Parts: sequence; C-alpha cells; structure tokens
Amino acid sequence: MLTQRLLTQRFNQYDGININDYLKLDGFIAFHKAITMPKEAIINEIKTSRLTGRGGAGFPTHIKMQAMLQTDGDKILVCNADEGEPGHFKDRYLLEKDPYLILEGILISAYATGASHGYMYIRGEYDQAIKQFQRVISIAENKGYLGKRILNTDFSFHLEIRRGAGAYVCGEEFALMESIEGKPGRTRVKPPYPTDKGVFGKPTLINNVETFCNLPTIILHGGKTYAKVGSELATGTKLICLSGHVKNKGLYEVPYGTPIIDVINKLGNGTVNDIPIQMVQIGGACGPIIPPSLLTMSIDNEAFEVFDAKMGAGAIIVMDENDDLFDIVLRNMTFFLHESCGKCTPCREGHVQLVHLLKKFVNFKATDKDFQSLKSLAEVIHTTTLCGLGQTSPTSIISTLTYFERA
Ligand code: SF4
Repeated sequence: MLTQRLLTQRFNQYDGININDYLKLDGFIAFHKAITMPKEAIINEIKTSRLTGRGGAGFPTHIKMQAMLQTDGDKILVCNADEGEPGHFKDRYLLEKDPYLILEGILISAYATGASHGYMYIRGEYDQAIKQFQRVISIAENKGYLGKRILNTDFSFHLEIRRGAGAYVCGEEFALMESIEGKPGRTRVKPPYPTDKGVFGKPTLINNVETFCNLPTIILHGGKTYAKVGSELATGTKLICLSGHVKNKGLYEVPYGTPIIDVINKLGNGTVNDIPIQMVQIGGACGPIIPPSLLTMSIDNEAFEVFDAKMGAGAIIVMDENDDLFDIVLRNMTFFLHESCGKCTPCREGHVQLVHLLKKFVNFKATDKDFQSLKSLAEVIHTTTLCGLGQTSPTSIISTLTYFERA
C-alpha cells in the first residue's frame, strides 16, 4: 500500500475549528479511553508501538514519557511546531487541517506523564495556524477538554501558545526552551536533559507535532496493531513533504519502508518535463544529497545512518539535470550562516568560510586545496558544534563530496 492515512484521515473532513464535527469523526475517543487507563499502561502501549519522534532525531517516544512519569512536582509539556527548515510544511498542514488531533495527542501525553501545563511553540510566520489554534484552545476549554478537572476527572491541564520570532535554531529543543522563557533562542549545554530540568527548571516533555498526532491511533487500536504498519526498522507512517522538480508536489503520508523512488514517481508523478533526476535532498537543508542510484532506499531512520544522518522531518527535494549541485549546497550554507546563533566558534566562523569556499566552486575557481579545505571544515563543524544546527548543517556537503566527488 503506497499511502496509508493515520494522521491525515480527517483532512478536509471538517473545517479545523468545529469541535462537534471533530467529535462526530470519532475525535477524542482515544483520549476518553486513555483517562480510564493507568498511566503506565498508556506508556506501555506506546512502547509496544515502537513510535519514534518525528521531528528529526527519531528518539523512542516512550523513553521520554517514562522519564517524565518518574519525576515529581510540576511538569511541563511542549509541542514543537517551530517548523523552519526549507522544504518542510507538514506541521502547518496538521495545524490547519486537523488541530484537534494534535490537541488529543497532547492531552494523552499530559495525562500519561502528569504534566499540568503546556506550550504550543508555533513558528512565527504561521499566522493563520496561530490564530486558528488559539480558537481551538478556547473552544476546547469551553467544552471541558482543557483547564481544571477535564471531563470531571482529577486531571487538569492548561495549554498556551508561544509564537516563535523567526529564528530557525529555536526548533532545536534547548533553544526552544530558552525562547519559551523569554530569553534569546540559544541552545543550552547538556545535560541536564529536558525531562530532568527543562522549561523554567521543571521536568519537560518536548515532542514534535507529528509525534503527538500518532498517539490517538496507538491508544485506540493498541500498540501491537499500530506496529504492524511500516517496516521492520520503523513502525507507523511518515508525512513526506515532496517538493522540487516533481509534477505533483505536496504532502503525502506513507508507511515507513516505502522506497523513496516510489514517492517521487508514483505519488509525485515523476519530474517536470520528465527531465532525469540528478540528485535528491532528503530531510531538508540539513539532510544528505543523494544520487539517483540510491533512490531505491526506503524511508527509515536506520537506513539513513549510512549518511551519519536521520530521515529528518520528512522533506524530499528533487533536483533535475538542470540544477547545479554546488549552487544548491551554497544556498544551504548561506541559510545556515544566517541562522547560526553565534554561540560556538566552529559554527559561527565555519559557515562564513564554507560560503566563501563554495562560491569558488560555483564560479569554477576552486583548487584542490579548496576541495580539501571544504572537506575538513565540514567535518570540523559537524563534530565540534554544540547543537543540531551545526552538527547537521554540513551533511549536504559531506554527502555531496562522497557521492558526487569530481562529478
Ligand atoms: S551550533 Fe551554531 S546554532 Fe548551534 S549553538 Fe553553536 S553557534 Fe549556535
């Protein structure tokens, strides 16, 4: 089966605001079930499902939830909707097309871990989504799904929106926590990790929008049934943002294990004017650029470890033979240079030098020495920087030099 709709099944079935329509479409049934279950049992179902984080890192979801459950005192939950990477738009679709599904996943998580307060951290440019989610919160409060003694139980949970201010690095969870606290969006030295000491020093569970959206299905049908979807390596579905030179760009939901080439050819209907593919970037600007010979690879985080990278948040950007490889990499590095927070030297100064070197390649002025400098500088930034931006930004350079060297 090429597409499977666990997360997108209600898209265009209601207006994304009317809670009664969501209820008619079997909304909140999973949450009603969850609040009758012991907290450990909920986390066990999630463990059985083998759900991993959909924001890029692919960490097992139940481990963070278990760690939160074992802590005492006030606990915070954060939904990371700071979708700022070029090529990604899945969170915006979820926010606008089925915001109550996100809320239901958040409520299940909050109940299971004992969190009493939550933040929706939404990318500042998503104006429509922010306004819409604000209405969703108000409606849910009036309907008894948010606030004190939810559905007349002992469970209370308050949710508020924090609007990002345009910095890409705030999608990184440590910078995001600083931003929620009203500080400049710069990462923290770790440990401590968020489940020990997160927002305002309190234990904090942070998950991506898409991760939360999987929880209602897992609770409703059980972790075992959920784990039947996908592949040996990864369970469930993945939202794929298909863009670039394909005929049918857009958002697709496919089971893990689907070959990349099937997404491009069968869902995207191949390239515009059927011009041959030269390369594909997976996972957005910080993902690897791979040649057509590797497109039979499946969509799986483990499969991408050969690139020392993850599948990322789900972007597939297709480039044809008219694209210039180094021009693409230069644009990526210019983006990261602009977005570097400047906290660590290899990232702050390294991206300046990467851009300088890549301009030589684009203008056919690069020497063998420039080639070696590009290679070693990319490795240094990848291995010595403090947060995910610097650790992953050189991936497109490293993969380019691996697969297209001297092409
Ligand atoms: S890697 Fe870059 S963005 Fe991350 S903390 Fe260092 S300077 Fe800031």
